[in-house]
Amino acid sequence: MYRLFLFPEPFPDESLYSLAVRYHRLVSNKSYRQTSRELFGTYSRTCGSVLPCCLGALSQRLEGQYSVAELVETRTLLPLYRPFLSEKAYESAILCMQGTQGTGLKMSLGMTASGLLKHASFRYCEACMQHDSEVFGMPYWHRIHMAAGVCICPIHGNVLLSANLPEGADWRSMFLPGEFASESVLSTQSLDAALAVAKMQFWGLENPQRACDLVDGDFLRLRLTEMGMVHRGRLRELALRNFVAPRLGPGNQEVEYKSVTNSFEWIMCLLRRRRRIVQPFKYYFLCWLLDSGVNDLRKFQRRNFSIVTDRDFTTKHAYCPDKAQVATRRREFKQDKSEKCHDKAGYYWLYRHDSDWLNNYVKHHPFVRSIEAPIDWSVQDARLSKELIDARDEILGDEGKPKKITKTALLRRVSAKYRYLREFSFFPESIQVLEGLLETEHDFQIRKLSWAIKRFSPSKQCATSLIMRFAGIRIRQVSESEVDSLFLPI
Ligand SMILES: [Zn+2]
Repeated sequence: MYRLFLFPEPFPDESLYSLAVRYHRLVSNKSYRQTSRELFGTYSRTCGSVLPCCLGALSQRLEGQYSVAELVETRTLLPLYRPFLSEKAYESAILCMQGTQGTGLKMSLGMTASGLLKHASFRYCEACMQHDSEVFGMPYWHRIHMAAGVCICPIHGNVLLSANLPEGADWRSMFLPGEFASESVLSTQSLDAALAVAKMQFWGLENPQRACDLVDGDFLRLRLTEMGMVHRGRLRELALRNFVAPRLGPGNQEVEYKSVTNSFEWIMCLLRRRRRIVQPFKYYFLCWLLDSGVNDLRKFQRRNFSIVTDRDFTTKHAYCPDKAQVATRRREFKQDKSEKCHDKAGYYWLYRHDSDWLNNYVKHHPFVRSIEAPIDWSVQDARLSKELIDARDEILGDEGKPKKITKTALLRRVSAKYRYLREFSFFPESIQVLEGLLETEHDFQIRKLSWAIKRFSPSKQCATSLIMRFAGIRIRQVSESEVDSLFLPI
């Protein structure tokens, strides 16, 4: 398994794509293809997506520094969907993102059918860009800015800008905010709904468990009851229609808001749960229509109930597992040998249905990285020097076309335990040895020519250009006499 020698430290709310771009630049890769192979072991077509795949391979390459669950929860938009998905659907979405096949993921989350994807773009906030440049040294992509329906920065209240990529370019250009021309995503500069919805979505993304409580505790129904929109268990549709009508008007000019302002029917579908999966944007927009803001969501306390029936709302079962189920899940969780609680079997299930017990368990079973004995750096240095020489010999002994002895090629063949790249000041001998082992382009060409001559046994009369081609040399750095001398042994 290939491992990564370096990976950027994630910034707050930074998307996975943004991390990939920063990695791409850090190692000065020439193409996305190369970066994708290094990060994911394959050519990933979903790296630019808000729900990227191949995270299993990335986690392995990072040697468990971030588990798949951590990557999903902190670097993608899946947590925003968690309150609207069953346990099974959420876990299968994670499995999908862990693997290499992302086909059907957006469809299974109802994103394709919602029609909201056509407004998706790379968005950023100018104030965030400036702040990030000052504090972190560079701008980066915030995942919340990429969520459907988020048109205003929830932190600064600025209308987001959408990057206009040049003709023929796409996210594989590996770009960061502010590098291409951009345009405002809203024509109305102060759309109350947009700021409120952005703040609520940001809260939902950062607090998925509390958002689950909000949805499971039927916040919307309680809000409607408080507003007097429910009479004897029946929803007063006309009263609701009259209440929301004036609030639907202002957003009508905005293309992204058309799907929620053009009709009233989706509201009834959402309240009656006729659609299988609710889009977070629609849910939080309805919260706003019902005069609720992020502070109301924060204050919401889930009330205990198991079954709610009435004539107008569909019968809903707030899922309450019985004691035996909880006991089984707890047992399976405890028996799992994974070091990190995040990675144990049934973590998500317990997170949702038995969070007090889980929090307590996690608190008493913190993940402690194994404490290493004090390092004798001089011994490490001597060992690494030897390994570097062995690595050089290995490269020289490799079958087939010669490979250049570069720093990367050598370091890939030595053990990562030395932490050479992080602590290189402790490795003076290795630095010297490494410098001495590196091959110049001239020496490499000589080696390739010797190989080509040995392999194809051409006569001296054979055109030099032919040998060059065999050796794969385009720009020659060896003299004619040097080429001649290589023929001497034959
Ligand atoms: Zn901002």
